Amino acid sequence: MDKIYDIGLGNNDVNLRKKAESDFVSFWDDQAKNLSWFSPWEKALDWQPPFAKWFVGGTINASYNALDIHQKTKSEKSAILWEGENGESRNITYGEMFSQVKKFSNVLKSLGVKKGDRVTIYLPMVPELPIVMMACARIGATHTVIFSGFSAASIKDRVTDSKSKVIVTADGGYRRGKIVKLKDVIDEAIKDSEFVEHVVVLERTKNEISLSSKDKLWNDLMNNASDQCDAEKLDSDHPLYILYTSGTTGKPKGVLHGTGGYLTHLYSTFKWAFDIKDSDVFFCTADIGWVTGHSYVVYAPFLHGATQVMYEGAPDFPDASRMWDILQKYRVTIFYTTPTALRMFMKFGDDIPNSFDLSSLRLLGTVGEPINPEVWKWYFKIIGREKCPIIDTWWQTETGGMLISPLPGLETIPLKPGSGTRAIPGVNISVVDENGDDVPDNTKGYLVVKNPWPGMLLTLWGDDEKYKTVYWSKYENCYYPGDYALRDDDGYLWLLGRADDVLKVAGHRIGTAELESCIVSHHDVAESAVCGIPDEVKGEVIIAFVVLKQGVFDTKILEKEISEKIRNDIGAIATPKQIYFVSKLPKTRSGKIMRRLLKAIANNEKIGDVSTLEDGAAVTEVQSAFDDIQ
Ligand code: ATP
Ligand code: MG
Repeated sequence: MDKIYDIGLGNNDVNLRKKAESDFVSFWDDQAKNLSWFSPWEKALDWQPPFAKWFVGGTINASYNALDIHQKTKSEKSAILWEGENGESRNITYGEMFSQVKKFSNVLKSLGVKKGDRVTIYLPMVPELPIVMMACARIGATHTVIFSGFSAASIKDRVTDSKSKVIVTADGGYRRGKIVKLKDVIDEAIKDSEFVEHVVVLERTKNEISLSSKDKLWNDLMNNASDQCDAEKLDSDHPLYILYTSGTTGKPKGVLHGTGGYLTHLYSTFKWAFDIKDSDVFFCTADIGWVTGHSYVVYAPFLHGATQVMYEGAPDFPDASRMWDILQKYRVTIFYTTPTALRMFMKFGDDIPNSFDLSSLRLLGTVGEPINPEVWKWYFKIIGREKCPIIDTWWQTETGGMLISPLPGLETIPLKPGSGTRAIPGVNISVVDENGDDVPDNTKGYLVVKNPWPGMLLTLWGDDEKYKTVYWSKYENCYYPGDYALRDDDGYLWLLGRADDVLKVAGHRIGTAELESCIVSHHDVAESAVCGIPDEVKGEVIIAFVVLKQGVFDTKILEKEISEKIRNDIGAIATPKQIYFVSKLPKTRSGKIMRRLLKAIANNEKIGDVSTLEDGAAVTEVQSAFDDIQ
C-alpha cells in the first residue's frame, strides 16, 4: 500500500456531513441560501425520476450572482488575469466584466435573441468568451460553447442540434504560434443553416475574413451598446447551457444544465474543494469548451468573486516551461489541471519545474481521468513541493460539478495517491454489481449515484428518451455514470476506468486504470493505454500501448521489465499478450485516452465517430505499430 499523505488544511466541519447524511434535500436547501435569489423557492426538490427540479418556484440569475453582487466590494478586484499565448496580458476587474457583460447582453437583445433562444459560441480562450456566456445567462438565452479546435463538420452537427440563431466567433485564435481561422470554419459549418440569423465576429488575430450580410463585427456592436441591462429573473430550472460531452466513448451527448441547482452545486464545491479565499489566485488550465471550464473557470470562481488566471494557448508553447512560468509570474495559489497534462510535463523531466519559484502554491487539483499514483506523487513532490494537498476530483459533464473529491476547505482527510477519497456531502454514491446490489469493500463494481444532486443534468437536449436510456436504464432510479470503481477498507473510492473498457481475462475483471498505472510506474514510461481483444482460448487477451519518456531505450528489455512488473504488482493474469511502443496515444481534444479506437484498430474494425479525436497521426501510428507486429 502506498504511503498516506496526511496534509489537510486544518478545516473540519463535521456537522455539515452529519446534516447531509440525515437529510440531503434540506442540506442542499441550506446550501442554496448562499446564493442571491430574486424570489425564494417553495420546494427544494421535485423528484420525478429520472427528472429532478431543484428549488422549484425560486427565481435567480447566474450572471447576477457572478457579477452584480460583487460590485459594492470588489469592482476594482481582478476577475481575470489573462495571458495570451503570444505573451500579451490583460487584467480585467469585476467592474469591467460587469459593464462588458451588460453591453453584450444588449447586443444580443438587439440581434433579436430572447429568453430560451440558443446562442452558439466558438471563441478562443479570451475574456470575451466568459463575457458572452454571462451575457446569455443575463437575458435567459441558453449558451452552447463549442471548443475552438473543432472542425466545421462537428460544429454543423452541434449547431443543427441546438438550432442556434446567433453564433459568436472570432476572426482567429492563436494555437502554437499559428492562427486558427475560426471565422472561416464557421462560414463552412453554417453555409446551409438558414436558421442562423447573425454571426458576431470578434477581432482577435486580425487575419483577413470575408463578411456576409449575416456577419457583424464585435466592436461595431459593442460601441453602440448601452451598459444598462438588468438581469432577467429566471426560474431555477431555466436552461443555462447545452454542452456536448468529450466523446471519449462515442458520439458526444448534448447535456442540458439548469441554473439554481447547478450554481448551488458549484458554489459549495468550489468552497469545499478549493478552500477559496479572497486573496487566492486560482488557475484552472481547462479550456472553457469543456465542462471543467464552464464550471470551474466561468461560473464557480465568479460566484465567489475570486481572481483567476486565464491562459489562451497550448500548455507547452513556446516550450515546456510555460505553465510553471505562469504559476510563478502570477503567484498562483491554487492550480487545477489534468492527468494527461501532468504526464506530459513529467515526460519533460524535473529540472524545468525545479527551476521556477512555485512557492505561492497551496493547493493542487486534477480532473478528467484517473490519475496514476506515480503521476500523483510527482505532482505532489515536484510541483507542490510536498506541502500542497492534491484534490483528485471525479465528475462528468452530466454531473455539473464534482461528486467525489477530497475537500480541504471543509474537512481534513489523509490522501492516498490515485483515490478521490469520498463523495461530497449530500451525494450518495455506491459501488454495485450487475444486479445493483452493493458490493463488499475492496470488490470492483460499477459506480452509481443513488439520489439526485443539484448539479445534475436536466436531460439530454431534445432527447428525454436517450437521457433515460443512457443514465437511468441499467439500474432503477439510480444514476449510472458508466465508470468502474472500488471502495477500499477505509471507505475510499478508487476510479478504475470506464465500465465499457473493463478487461475480462479468464474470468477476472481488471479496470484499465489499475493496469495502466502499473505500467506508468515503470520509470521509463510516460503514458500507457490498455485494451482487450478477443482470444479463442482465453476469451480476451490484453494488449498495451506504451509511450516512453524522453531518451533512448532498448524496447526488448523494457518489454520484459514491464511484463515482470505487471506479474509482480497485479498478477500473471494481467500480463499483456503484446506491448506496442508508440510516440503518442489517440486522445480526445480534452486529453482523454480513446481506448475504443485502440480496440477497434486491434480488432480490424471501423473506428467510428472520430470528430473529437485530437490528432489523427496517433491513430495512424498505432495502426502501423499494430500492422508491423502482426
Ligand atoms: P463521452 O461521455 O462523450 O464518452 P466523456 O465521458 O469523456 O465523453 P466528460 O464528461 O468530459 O466526457 O468526462 C467524464 C468522465 O471522465 C468520467 O465519466 C470519468 O470516466 C472520467 N473522469 C473524470 N474525472 C475523473 C477522475 N478524477 N478520476 C477518474 N476518472 C475521471
Ligand atoms: Mg461520459
